[in-house]
Amino acid sequence: MVHIRHLISSVDTSARERDFKNPNLFFPSAPRLRFQLLALSLLLLAGFQSGPPKESGDFRQSDLVEITRLDPSIRLDIRYATTNNFVHRPVYRQALAFLQRPAAEALVRVNAGLKPKGYGLLVFDAYRPWSVTKIFWDMASEEERKIGFVANPQKSSRHNRACAVDLSLYDSQTGLEVPMPSIFDEFSERAFPKYGGGSAKARTMRDLLRVAMEAEGYTVYESEWWHFDYRNWRQYRTLDVPFEELSEKP
Ligand SMILES: [Zn+2]
Repeated sequence: MVHIRHLISSVDTSARERDFKNPNLFFPSAPRLRFQLLALSLLLLAGFQSGPPKESGDFRQSDLVEITRLDPSIRLDIRYATTNNFVHRPVYRQALAFLQRPAAEALVRVNAGLKPKGYGLLVFDAYRPWSVTKIFWDMASEEERKIGFVANPQKSSRHNRACAVDLSLYDSQTGLEVPMPSIFDEFSERAFPKYGGGSAKARTMRDLLRVAMEAEGYTVYESEWWHFDYRNWRQYRTLDVPFEELSEKP
């Protein structure tokens, strides 16, 4: 497993796109929470970076939209708002998915193209506020940082720019998630988009998703069949706007 993580990390050290595995990180017990808040305060007082990285240059104007407001037939299974994720507890308070408008509109087109084939998009994660990435990093061990298991907040995670989305397919007839070569957030070679093992049906579904996404300007991540970046993602700033603020927009 560690070997695979090294492999993944060597592919792109800036973006092991999931962040952390500590199950006690969010919504912890009161004493633990007090300790964590104290530790964070000390870090801030010590002059550590306290906000998103200062990024110079020209960036596109941010325009975050809630994906399901554009197309309610895109389904959500926001794993980080549940215990069904690799940290085993919620890290988002709201099960919502936001993207920059062009990326969201492209996703709507992907979904429309899949409908006649009997499938729809099932989103696991999209925009992720920078502070979530930052807290994961602060709480990670040296080893977890070294192997690239956490995203370095000084570089930010691709999800922080709101042009990255983790997703799969659902079957329109059954409403169920289709089987893929691996589960979401699995640390194994089965997660690689080029993995040749497993069932032919699962590989066909994985490739159907990829072809549909690529046709609308998305690129699959080299080590995760479920992670896609929309074109021009580097032209958007790292964001740290909480879901609550976004969901209150008219
Ligand atoms: Zn991702």
